[in-house]
Amino acid sequence: MTGRRRVVVVGGGVAGLAAARRLASRHETVLLERDGRLGGRLRTEQFRGRPVDVGPDSFITRNDAAERLCRELGLAAELIEPATTSAGVLARGRVRPLPSGLVLGVSTDIAALARSGVVGPLAALRAAADLVLPRSAATAALAAEDGGADPTVAEVIRPRLGRAVLEVLVDPLLGGINAGDSHRLSFTAAAPMLAASVAGKRSLILSLRRRPRSVPELPGPRKPAFLGLSDGIETLATRLGEECLRLGVDVRTGSAAEWLRLRPAGREPRWELGLGGAVLEADALVLALPAPDSARLLEASDARLAAECAAIPYAGVVTVTLAWPMGSVPKAVSALPMSGVLVPRSARNVVTAVSFTSRKWPRSANTGELVLRVSTGRDGDGRAISLDDHDLVERVRAELASMLGIVAEPAEVLVARYPAALPQYLSGHRARVARIEEASARLPALALAGAAYGGIGIPSCISSGERAAASVEAALAR
Ligand SMILES: Cc1cc2nc3c(=O)[nH]c(=O)nc-3n(C[C@H](O)[C@H](O)[C@H](O)COP(=O)(O)OP(=O)(O)OC[C@H]3O[C@@H](n4cnc5c(N)ncnc54)[C@H](O)[C@@H]3O)c2cc1C
Repeated sequence: MTGRRRVVVVGGGVAGLAAARRLASRHETVLLERDGRLGGRLRTEQFRGRPVDVGPDSFITRNDAAERLCRELGLAAELIEPATTSAGVLARGRVRPLPSGLVLGVSTDIAALARSGVVGPLAALRAAADLVLPRSAATAALAAEDGGADPTVAEVIRPRLGRAVLEVLVDPLLGGINAGDSHRLSFTAAAPMLAASVAGKRSLILSLRRRPRSVPELPGPRKPAFLGLSDGIETLATRLGEECLRLGVDVRTGSAAEWLRLRPAGREPRWELGLGGAVLEADALVLALPAPDSARLLEASDARLAAECAAIPYAGVVTVTLAWPMGSVPKAVSALPMSGVLVPRSARNVVTAVSFTSRKWPRSANTGELVLRVSTGRDGDGRAISLDDHDLVERVRAELASMLGIVAEPAEVLVARYPAALPQYLSGHRARVARIEEASARLPALALAGAAYGGIGIPSCISSGERAAASVEAALAR
């Protein structure tokens, strides 16, 4: 059709799928995905005849992009809430329920913190010092307009609430979202809304108590903070793929972009992508890829932009799903009123979190069976990735035995590996992303999308894909 320009979206994760869906009605759209399936990190496996999410299992509703998209795709009836969202933490030798009043691990209720026992009485008293201490340099730096200093999570939290609260609550909760290290993560990039609430303020506790309602908090009883899908989260990717096909997108799985270049100067700029022996031309391009993959493709067109992308590190994660007949595990475990347990870095375990899948998502387990999904690996701890499946499962079982007293042989085990699972938003991340956006805007009709830049959760990735689509459309219209 005359006037129709070709847009190529590289990457068939949720960001690329959302971008392709937006572009399809007005442009000839090609979606390239290296793997044989769509969805990227979104993976649902059949485990003992039940759907189990081995990657993400839910999305937040505060950013409504994922819930809205599910509804637009006709998935409203399949949206399900987790049966329970209360969590525990391995602290002072045993699993203890998290205290109430936490905002991403930051305690706003010192009495509840002290009663919970997750930290000792002296550490609770130390956290209370936040109420009287003068303003810290790090919270002052959060308010600086120039963005020069970008304190880490630890630099903001530790001077206010002490080491114990940082290690036992903030690092596992806030850092746990992206398997990150609070000593390396940028506070503003990892927790932007929290940072906005405390920037320039003196007491973290007081400013979070007075925060506006939109600031993130642990799931409360009023509305579901998280939603999943009854047949598993991968349904979202499958349905997006079907919708793309219906709208005429040329969806090519098993098709990796191997190289990328701009057609030689002197003619109207066009992108060329190398696919096996073939060359695919494009008027516009969305790269919805993990940052190192974008870096490799961009090397020939803009080495500095490629270097900025390459500088975003990733943490590797392996999830291990295990099932036992309920009768073979201690009664206390099946009775724990929790959706999961966080394991602080200071425990030095390979396990970082245990999700009580059969309790949280009853559809994922057969009656009479306990299903746990264990997360292993985090930034700075590559043990999970380097162990083979057998040794990793042995290690996980030994840690579950000491943490929960489960010693029985599991009926079935499923290992899912994500060698470069989650981007790390280190100190300086937001300034880097601004440089990436400036550099990509200087190249013709190019946009980057996905978890690497402005939010790792599924809703943020959808929004970034949709923004990238709008940005290349605007460039084509100029
Ligand atoms: C274990 C785990 C648990 C998580 N839990 C949650 C959760 O509960 N809730 C939540 O909201 N988020 C969660 N996340 C984060 C979320 O899943 C991801 O951030 C998000 O899915 C990333 O989407 P994306 O489209 O940016 O990237 P990806 O899903 O990584 O997709 C990128 C795609 O690009 C493809 N690709 C790479 N190179 C090429 C190439 N050269 N040519 C063609 N294709 C290529 C890849 O194969 C991949 O499919 C979790 C992530 C992990 C790993």
